[in-house]
Amino acid sequence: MKKIIFFVLLILIFNSFIFAHSIMKSVDKQAEKIKIAVTILPQKYLVDKISGGEVICYALVPPGYNPGTFRLKPSQAIDLSKSKIYFRIGKVAFELSNIKKISQINKNLEIIDTSLGVNFIVAQEKCHQGHLDPHIWLSTKSLELQAKIIYKTLCRELPLKKEELKSNYINLINELKSLNQDVQKILKSLKSRTFFVYHPAWAYFARDYGLKQIALEKGGKKPSVGYLKEFIDNVKKYKAKVIFVQREFAQSSPQTVAKEAGLKVVSLSPLQYDVKDSILSAAKALLENE
Ligand SMILES: [Zn+2]
Repeated sequence: MKKIIFFVLLILIFNSFIFAHSIMKSVDKQAEKIKIAVTILPQKYLVDKISGGEVICYALVPPGYNPGTFRLKPSQAIDLSKSKIYFRIGKVAFELSNIKKISQINKNLEIIDTSLGVNFIVAQEKCHQGHLDPHIWLSTKSLELQAKIIYKTLCRELPLKKEELKSNYINLINELKSLNQDVQKILKSLKSRTFFVYHPAWAYFARDYGLKQIALEKGGKKPSVGYLKEFIDNVKKYKAKVIFVQREFAQSSPQTVAKEAGLKVVSLSPLQYDVKDSILSAAKALLENE
């Protein structure tokens, strides 16, 4: 009997050693992974999709924050000092005002601009400093360009994973192409080609599908009385029924104007992680709220 107990104990001890070893191994593997910073969550979506979890990617602008005004927190320096690459989205104000600081925190950090090759739109309103509209992630075509830069960089960093990266990348491109077709189909039956928003985040989306956005926000600020009148005139002219808002921007201003102009307030999520869903949901919201 004693012998049996002894053997059972021996087996249990042996198993727990194996278990601890495998945990240590996976912790090690996590620690070995390259750390990659991006500015906003939609970029993390692209990196995660292509890397298939082979890198650790994090967004500098946390969920719910406005990349127009968010400032780097001291606590983020630790992550940045351990990161190898930083994928910029190009022109958002967060980058324009923090990029020096970021490169000072980690002098070895490779900063790669994923907006290279994008056909930028000159901003109607300077809401993010600079004269170019920064919201390039809300276009499947521009997402494809960004994905290509991310894919090439990851292939260079993970040469042993090339095959896996390639198939992930091809899948992503196919998904973006079919999303583009789906959105085209949804918007085909749209009668009014003009839509109303608080913050002008949808210029690239509008360009892709022959639409026009009219923003209530002016130059990153609440509208003046004069502009408000012009806005309400446009609402009447286009017989608009809704104004689209996003949680990162002041909600009280659009609520008041919406009441005055007889508009329903509908929320869109241009900064959420699943950027494909942002684009598809926007198209559906336009059709549903015509
Ligand atoms: Zn913006």
